[in-house]
This record gives sequence, structure tokens and C-alpha cells, in this order.
Amino acid sequence: MASFKAIVIEKGEAGQSVALKDFDEADLMDGDVTVRVGWSTINYKDGLAIAGKAPVVRRFPMIAGIDFAGTVETSSHPAWQAGDEVILNGWGLGETHLGAYAHKARVKGDWLVRLPAGMSAREAMAIGTAGYTAMLCVMALERAGVTPQRGPVVVTGAAGGVGSVAVALLKKLGYQVVASTGRPQEADYLKALGAAEVIDRKELSGPAKPLAKERWAGGVDSVGSTTLANVLSMTRYGGAVAACGLAGGMDLPTSVAPFILRAVSLLGIDSVMCPLPLRQEAWKRLGTDLDRSKLAAMSTEIPLSEVIATAPGILAGGVRGRIVVKIG
Ligand code: NDP
Repeated sequence: MASFKAIVIEKGEAGQSVALKDFDEADLMDGDVTVRVGWSTINYKDGLAIAGKAPVVRRFPMIAGIDFAGTVETSSHPAWQAGDEVILNGWGLGETHLGAYAHKARVKGDWLVRLPAGMSAREAMAIGTAGYTAMLCVMALERAGVTPQRGPVVVTGAAGGVGSVAVALLKKLGYQVVASTGRPQEADYLKALGAAEVIDRKELSGPAKPLAKERWAGGVDSVGSTTLANVLSMTRYGGAVAACGLAGGMDLPTSVAPFILRAVSLLGIDSVMCPLPLRQEAWKRLGTDLDRSKLAAMSTEIPLSEVIATAPGILAGGVRGRIVVKIG
């Protein structure tokens, strides 16, 4: 019987355990497309799953990993043929469906997006779910009418994965970017990605006033909690903030003041169940609107064998930019 290496999370009486081990291909779950996985990545949610810190995994045993890029091996789905290069983000991968940290995956063809022309599979996973989510945030701001002419855009958790890609994307699209970070030593890194101004995240971390001095026309927030509350209270009249993360907490201690007195919009962003047309648009845009040299500058590479030791570090906010994982 064919087997391959995979990072498998199991749950026993002593709790959760995780190991790199052989996995039988016959034990893959149902799906109409089998993919040879080439690359994956470490996202915040992967850190949570491997550390067992939040109920991310809802089926055991589980192969961890929420996103991959790879090549179709076999398909009975009408859209896909052997040899097609594909990307998968979310849809329960690594949560309810056997995931990405494995040489093979069997998935639903309806979940797949074609690798954009001119983008390598490695670049797709340097972007990963974090970068695709940053693009969803930018697209939401655009739909809400936040143009570069309306004023600066703040990015919180700027030195992290979502934040780094958001800074680079917004810069390329002509926005003036204010990067908020708890790591002042990364100011040069953030300026090289395109930040016009770098601020200390402490400015946004205390209790928020209902309304504060208007500082920006929009925001991309991956932190939540008091940070998002402060971003909202400092958003200019008619502006909008895309909220995608909870690195600082899941609560939102705010008031309705920014919404009813400044017509500010709070835009919710979800990458996991995002409808296919929006995903396809996001990946197409990532193919054209992300500066590849900046993507290279924000990415580091590790092999599959280092994922278990590396992933929990992302929860402490210790990872800069993106980590791409070589699987094949
Ligand atoms: P990273 O860890 O790479 O980035 C998060 C950043 O947030 C850190 O680098 C740090 O940036 C900042 N941060 C961390 N802890 C705190 C804290 N206690 N208070 C304030 N700031 C903090 O993670 P990702 O970029 O991969 O993900 C970011 C968030 O977005 C996560 O919560 C993740 O779950 C969420 N997410 C949501 C998705 C969705 O579909 N909605 C999809 C992808 C991610 P700095 O050092 O610069 O301050």
C-alpha cells in the first residue's frame, strides 16, 4: 500500500499529540481530485492547530495545514486534469478535512483555484492564506470606496503575515500606508515593503475613546480587541476598516459612535468559506498587484520536518512576514 510523510495530529486520553509520520494513501478522505502537494505555509491558524491552543482541529486523526499549492495527479472533476497547477485555501482543510502538511491530498475540485499565470507554486504559498486574506481586505476597502485620494490606510500587526502582504499591496496600489507594529526593530523592513510611516502598536492598544482624532481613511486589522476599537475611533468620516484577525484578542470593546457619527464601516473578512468567484478574483489580483521582490523579501523557507518546531512561534508574534514550507 502507498504511503507518504504527513504531520498528523491525534487525540488520546493524555491530550493532543503531533508527529511527522507515514500516512497510508488509502486513509485519505473522499474527494474528486488527488493533488501532489508541492508547497504549504505556516499561518496563525496552523500555529493554533499544532500547539493545540484552540479548537481548530475537529476530526482526529488530522493532517495539519490549512493551505497548499500543488499539481493534480488524478481527477474526476470536470474542471481539473492531471498536471494542472492548483491552490487551496481553507474550506476546512486541516480542520475537518485532512490537510496540507503531506505529500498528497485528496480534496473537492470545487475548492481549488488555478495557479495564476506567471506565479510559481512556491510564490503562491509565500503568499498563502495570510496573503490571500490581505488581498480580500484590500478588495473590501476598494468596494467601500476607500481610494488612495481619500487618505492613508493603517495596517495593524504589520510585521506579521497578513500585515506584511497588506503593506506591500496597498503601497503598489498607491495608498499611503501607516504600519502599526510592536516590533520597532522591524521599522526598516516595513518601510522597505512600502510603509510611509511606522507607529508603535501601543498607540492603539489602550482602551478606545468613542471618537478620537481622525487619522486614516481605512484600515486592515489582523489584531482585533482594543486595537480594532482604536482603529475605528480614529477612522475619518465615511472611511472603512477590514477586520480579519484576532492576534490581540477576540473581543471588540468599542461603541457605535464611529458608525453612527462618522459613517465608518466595519468590513468582516473570512477566507475559509469565501465564495469561489471572490477567491479567483483575489488570486488574479495577487498575480498582478503584489511586488514579487517584496514577497521574496518577506518570506523564509523551511522543510516539512521543521514545521512542528516552528509553527507555535507564530502565536507569540515572533514570526516576521511569511514562512513557506517545502513539502515535495
Ligand atoms: P502573524 O502572527 O504572522 O501576524 C500577527 C501579528 O499581529 C504579529 O506579527 C504582531 O505584529 C501582531 N500581534 C501579535 N500579538 C499581538 C498582540 N497581543 N497585540 C497586538 N498585536 C499583536 O499571523 P497572520 O498574519 O498569519 O494572521 C494574523 C491574524 O489574522 C490571526 O489572528 C489569524 O487568525 C487571522 N487570519 C484570519 C483569516 C480570516 O479568514 N479571517 C485568514 C488568515 C489569518 P507586530 O509585531 O507587527 O505588532
